[in-house]
Amino acid sequence: MIIVLESGVAENQIEEIIRVLHDHKFDVHRSAGVQHIVLGAIGVHPEFDHRQIELLPGVAEVLRVTEPFKLASRAFKREGSIFDIGGVKIGGSEVVVMAGPCAVESEEQILKIAELVKDSGAKILRGGAFKPRSSPYSFQGLGEDGLKLLRAAANNFQLKVVTEVMDKSQIDLVEKYADILQVGARNMQNYTFLKDLGKASKPVMLKRGPAATIEEWLMSAEYILSGGNQQVILCERGIRTFETATRNTMDIGAIPVIKKKSHLPIIADPSHGIGIRDKVIPMARAAVAAGADGIIVEVHNDPNHALSDGAQSLYPDQFAQMMKEVRIIAQAIGRTIA
Ligand code: PEP
Ligand code: MN
Repeated sequence: MIIVLESGVAENQIEEIIRVLHDHKFDVHRSAGVQHIVLGAIGVHPEFDHRQIELLPGVAEVLRVTEPFKLASRAFKREGSIFDIGGVKIGGSEVVVMAGPCAVESEEQILKIAELVKDSGAKILRGGAFKPRSSPYSFQGLGEDGLKLLRAAANNFQLKVVTEVMDKSQIDLVEKYADILQVGARNMQNYTFLKDLGKASKPVMLKRGPAATIEEWLMSAEYILSGGNQQVILCERGIRTFETATRNTMDIGAIPVIKKKSHLPIIADPSHGIGIRDKVIPMARAAVAAGADGIIVEVHNDPNHALSDGAQSLYPDQFAQMMKEVRIIAQAIGRTIA
């Protein structure tokens, strides 16, 4: 932490600032600039609230230099984390594609979609059995029946399963059927739930909250990591901005930022990120080009009759086209897509 003092600060004020820093176990280095005296406070205290110093008389500005997250940071672990999910490696040189409907709707639907996404190269089948809908009157998912259908369809086509878990009461149940537990954007700041997921035995894919900064998102990952679950995968799914032309604003820039700050793998969700079918493929291409370790895409055999998110779900032939295009991009940056 760097503390810039006001010009003309009194010596007793400086002493008081240094005393407070020492009280909080910081080593303090004092240096005199041309106009300002600057204090360097050295020590790693992620829980320290720098506003306590900002408020002291004589302080002009406080600049934090260390990140508040620890286990999620690159400083803690220099190599990127690779998670092996039953032979599917997330975070390695392969860009992993997860695809499927927004929601599991029926046996026929999930089997058809599983077959076609597998044919085009997806490794992981997505599909919600518990759906976080904006309206309580919308389709809420098939619950455990949906999980069973999803698992059976995935097994049939040698795919892994990612599906959403919405609260603590569902963790044991979802773990029985899923390979990756998806935490929805709306739950990113549900800290008690994140602590519960720290005790889960399956990897967690943590979606970015619609209004969360990258730092807040990494702090949420920190909750799961510090709870004991080392397998956290981040997922950029678009944030809310002033823009109304698209459902969300897909923050492609977050991908290289996360790669620099954290060792955790990052997946991009262009379906929720942009929210309109005809723009999903370009966003998927952009995400792979930006360095995403995977993409998760909504695909439906009959999107016009989908029970949720039909407008952003790709038709099967569009998914096949997307796979062709992202493969070329992956290759151009030294990566592969199955
Ligand atoms: C979903 O994946 O269908 C979903 C509800 O995602 P999000 O939490 O990102 O809105
Ligand atoms: Mn959806």
